[in-house]
Amino acid sequence: MKIHAILRFSIILLAFIATSLTGQDKLQVLSSASIFQDMAEHIGGEKILATSIVPIGGDPHLYEPVPSDVAKVQDADIILINGLTFEGWISQLVENSGTDATSVLITKSVNPLGSQVYENATDPHAWMDASNGLIYAKNIYNAIIKADPENTSYYQDRYQSYITQLKDLDAYISTQINTIPEFKRVLITSHDAFAYYGNRYGIELSAIMGISTEAEAQTSDVMRVINDIKKRGVPAVFIESTINPKLVKQIASDTGAKIGGELYADSIGEEGSPGHGYIEMLRHNTDVIVRALTQDNIDSENVTADSGINYLLYAAIGLFLIIALLVLVYFIQRN
Ligand SMILES: [Zn+2]
Repeated sequence: MKIHAILRFSIILLAFIATSLTGQDKLQVLSSASIFQDMAEHIGGEKILATSIVPIGGDPHLYEPVPSDVAKVQDADIILINGLTFEGWISQLVENSGTDATSVLITKSVNPLGSQVYENATDPHAWMDASNGLIYAKNIYNAIIKADPENTSYYQDRYQSYITQLKDLDAYISTQINTIPEFKRVLITSHDAFAYYGNRYGIELSAIMGISTEAEAQTSDVMRVINDIKKRGVPAVFIESTINPKLVKQIASDTGAKIGGELYADSIGEEGSPGHGYIEMLRHNTDVIVRALTQDNIDSENVTADSGINYLLYAAIGLFLIIALLVLVYFIQRN
């Protein structure tokens, strides 16, 4: 009996040490993608263990779950899901795992945009608008305090401070985008991930691929983008951290547009990169876009808006010369 008791005590102690070391005693908040993991970390702090299924730099549109993901889902208390067709593979993964975790749709109350390219398709990239980031944060906060009500005041402080940062971010992006001359506000990217961003901050979009990276780009898409660049005199095009930059580079060399830099859309950046975090990635994107689109390297004759001004100027000079000639003829005839 005595040996049994000691054995049982040892097992309990070992289990306790193991869970402490692995963070198993904390609230397990699993996200589909790294962007939402970062949001959860800001709100949950050290009281939660925030993890993500798709690793940083991975493409959540194309992700194929691996066997270890089943264990992650089984261990989770909360699973944060974007929905709006972003991670189509997740519902089957959750179902197959038999987990009793709570699935939370973090885009609840977001006003979804439709695809500009495909009919009846929903655009999942709602987080690209920082004012939507506030909705994500609220949904994540509500899910966390519901699962761990004892620590509500801890989470509330962190949530309030995060909300302030998100509001500042939203204002920063607006101010920065407004410094780009209006006719230059065209954003050319690999895939159509910037519609919410463009909608919120007043920038036109032209993407080579649709709202998902699943479909291959068509020649007609490439031609459309090339035409947009030539018509508008777009000075720069942008590559994305999760997508092969080959096509964008090809389009840049075909049109003479510059590569404006690397943008983050479907994943935060690696540790040490400027986009390592949700706020950081939107801020970095904005800085890169503003820098590239305000550079003054456009041949003004290729730009419709400038050409319009030139034609007016030529017409005015022409009219002036005709009047001067008529006045001259009148005076010659009078004498
Ligand atoms: Zn995407």
